[in-house]
Amino acid sequence: MGTTPLAIAGGGMAGLVAAARLRELGVRARVDEKGTRPGGSMLLSSCVIWRHRDWDDFRRECPDGDPILQRLVWSRLDDALRWLTGQGAEPVALDTGNPLTTGWRFEPAALTRALAARAAEIRLGTPASPAVRPLILCTGGFGGSAELVARHIRPAAPLRLRANPWSQGDGLRAGLERGGAPSDGLDQFYGRNMPDAPWDETQLVALSQLYARFARIFDMNGVEFFDRGDVSWSENNVVAATARRPAASAFYLLDEQALAQAVRERTVAEIVAAAPAGARVAPEELPFAAPAGTVAAVRVRAAITHTIGGLRVDERARVVDAAGSPVDGLRAAGVDAGGVATGGYASGLAQALVLGLVAAEDAAG
Ligand SMILES: Cc1cc2nc3c(=O)[nH]c(=O)nc-3n(C[C@H](O)[C@H](O)[C@H](O)COP(=O)(O)OP(=O)(O)OC[C@H]3O[C@@H](n4cnc5c(N)ncnc54)[C@H](O)[C@@H]3O)c2cc1C
Repeated sequence: MGTTPLAIAGGGMAGLVAAARLRELGVRARVDEKGTRPGGSMLLSSCVIWRHRDWDDFRRECPDGDPILQRLVWSRLDDALRWLTGQGAEPVALDTGNPLTTGWRFEPAALTRALAARAAEIRLGTPASPAVRPLILCTGGFGGSAELVARHIRPAAPLRLRANPWSQGDGLRAGLERGGAPSDGLDQFYGRNMPDAPWDETQLVALSQLYARFARIFDMNGVEFFDRGDVSWSENNVVAATARRPAASAFYLLDEQALAQAVRERTVAEIVAAAPAGARVAPEELPFAAPAGTVAAVRVRAAITHTIGGLRVDERARVVDAAGSPVDGLRAAGVDAGGVATGGYASGLAQALVLGLVAAEDAAG
């Protein structure tokens, strides 16, 4: 192994994968991780690493994404999942529970531990130096920067953060400063509508209000702005629409029939009952007249998990400039690489896994 380690910015999914792959290829790498722990948002996630079962569905659901990057993630994911098991990470489920998609679910703490052990050299509490080369940017996008979110995504009010707190656009800034081009879709994000009340990072999965397809959806002014029939399976489209309504908030109104519906292993009534009391509103206390039959209401606020736009990369995960030429020594993986899921929603973990491998292999020559 060489003496100067190859630098990786960020020790979340993409960064740990890249480091583990480089080590396997005999290249010494060092991960600089800004946060106090490895794992990034992966550690907080449901950890289902998936792709659309059919290529045409991927294209249809993410129509504005770069087809070359999409094909790369889609075609390499199954092998990449098997590679993960070779790193000592065992899946806890071999399906996603969604007929449209295929993939595996892992236990996030165990996956983080396995990858961190393979990655070997990790410096915690250390923001990466943006000027180093070669450098693989894996800083997890800009969802944690209120300023960049306001500039690019332009929600009607600040979004809640449903992710690790350290992904603040350092990779995007570094890439742009070094001549990289932005990808399409800088105004897009993946997120969830969360109860508009205090919660913490241990509740990001359990408190997701994932039942808009059964609710009537009103804004703070009493305008019914989204038809439940138009809610996508991921519900990301209603979250994006909520972000643009007053206070980036909405009321989900439920009748008895809606409360009885099931979402995965819970009923809607159980999800609502588990929401913090501050977000639950009696129908008669709504600031507008509720439709007949409404028996429960939850005030939700749009929360960002990660950004969809980022740096433009090629099929070797090299950051490229506006003319498509690689920026010297700079690669990006994970959601720092933009333009994969533009126009829709796809697995951020799959993108991080595949692009982490690709960036490492390209850097290793
Ligand atoms: C609650 C929740 C549920 C989710 N469920 C799923 C799911 O089931 N399936 C799925 O596919 N995706 C899911 N996701 C999204 C998934 O976690 C992310 O898409 C994925 O982690 C992105 O990988 P990444 O490596 O780009 O970023 P991350 O894993 O977030 O890692 C980025 C890392 O970079 C670090 N960093 C930031 N700036 C710097 C800097 N300047 N220097 C050094 N380090 C820096 C951060 O601290 C962080 O550790 C979920 C996310 C959350 C929060």
